[in-house]
Amino acid sequence: MSGDRSLSAHRDPSRSAHDAVVVGAGIVGLMTALALAEDGRGVLVLDREGPGSGTSAGNAGILAFPEILPLASPGLLGQVPRWLLDPLGPLSVRPSYALRAAPWLLRFIRASGPDAFNRILSAQATLNRLAEPAMDAAIVRAGLGNHVSEAGTLDLYDGEDAFRRADADWARKRRAGIGFEVLRGRDAIEAVQPGLAERFHAAAVYSAAGRQVREPREFTQALARHLEGRGVVIRRARVEAIRPVSAGAEIVLGDGAPSIVAPFVVLAAGAWSKQLAQTLGDRVPLESERGYNVTLPPGAFPLRRQLYFNGHGFVATPIADGVRIGGAVEIGGLDLPPNFRRSDAMLRKAQAFMPGLRAEGGRAWMGHRPSMPDTLAVIGRSRASRRIVYAFGHGHLGLTQSAATGRLVADLAAERPPAIDLSPFSPQRF
Ligand SMILES: Cc1cc2nc3c(=O)[nH]c(=O)nc-3n(C[C@H](O)[C@H](O)[C@H](O)COP(=O)(O)OP(=O)(O)OC[C@H]3O[C@@H](n4cnc5c(N)ncnc54)[C@H](O)[C@@H]3O)c2cc1C
Repeated sequence: MSGDRSLSAHRDPSRSAHDAVVVGAGIVGLMTALALAEDGRGVLVLDREGPGSGTSAGNAGILAFPEILPLASPGLLGQVPRWLLDPLGPLSVRPSYALRAAPWLLRFIRASGPDAFNRILSAQATLNRLAEPAMDAAIVRAGLGNHVSEAGTLDLYDGEDAFRRADADWARKRRAGIGFEVLRGRDAIEAVQPGLAERFHAAAVYSAAGRQVREPREFTQALARHLEGRGVVIRRARVEAIRPVSAGAEIVLGDGAPSIVAPFVVLAAGAWSKQLAQTLGDRVPLESERGYNVTLPPGAFPLRRQLYFNGHGFVATPIADGVRIGGAVEIGGLDLPPNFRRSDAMLRKAQAFMPGLRAEGGRAWMGHRPSMPDTLAVIGRSRASRRIVYAFGHGHLGLTQSAATGRLVADLAAERPPAIDLSPFSPQRF
């Protein structure tokens, strides 16, 4: 043990002047801080790198409230063998990580059975129904309206057969009350987004209500500024462990900083939450689904709205004044270096799908989606203490579900009945 560490171990913890401490200043942690502050609590947020530095910085920015389908589905599993053959395709497992990922992958496969699928679908639909009004309210109250655009979403398919294969999924969405319009023929598709390749000639789905944030990092940081303006303290600190104590929880900090004791603690450290939950005796099967993208400068393509390239595992979104091309899933843990050949491969495909796309000057990025094998987030109390609550594991939908998560955590803090049944999101469900 280094001199510094033994010194810190002997320092007395300082009792926080705050009612609640949130670990993690990604979009989930910050939306949680907002909800707690709106309930009248004094909030301290700790992040080792500062607000919006993790996965919330570089995502596609889509407020994907209609995305209620579990990731593990019988339909998806059918495509997996073909995808796995292509190391740069929509889904891959890094060979050196395959053994460590095996338990998560087995649980993922188990979640695709019909019973599990329907149960997860229903829970995700319930959370997303809460997510939309919760996000609207947060945007208004935090003055973030100018960070959001409403231009709709276009789902594209390679021909009639590919569209037919998605029939059941669209029917499920319709039954859940999600509105959309099927576009037939190339002219109808071109009217919504000109300049697409011939292959998208048969059918597409247009969702006029599709919304997105213009730039996810700026959105997250603007929220952080709003929070500071209303008295929330955001501090840089690396959390090493959390322990239950009679007064709430002790947060053990790295780098020789004295630990902090607070009456209520929220763990919202995204894909890095697993190790911290483990310090509390909770073993959650959280894995990083690594995702990649490239952000092209203004003028790259006259993109009017989000495009989903179904069957290819990536999207194109207007970001700030440029275009972000990204998606894909790579199972490879938190520590292996990124393989940016993946983002290059998506960019090449995008050039084929959007002829005229100018691929120069792009900035590549890799982020860690905090993902549970059953697609559902973890929102609930730690086994160690009622005063320690988890808010992580939102996978592909962390931005979308962040404000709802904040509301639910605030309910738990106040001992109010939560707005939805939280049992499908329990940390102890596995
Ligand atoms: C390519 C890609 C595209 C995506 N597109 C979308 C989309 O369009 N819509 C959508 O809803 N979601 C999308 N997502 C998912 C979304 O980005 C995530 O679910 C979300 O950002 C997770 O937010 P978070 O706050 O939980 O985690 P993060 O944003 O990762 O925040 C966690 C924070 O915890 C901090 N931290 C970690 N460990 C510690 C520690 N020990 N001590 C102190 N601080 C610590 C980190 O510094 C970080 O700031 C996408 C993800 C990817 C990768």
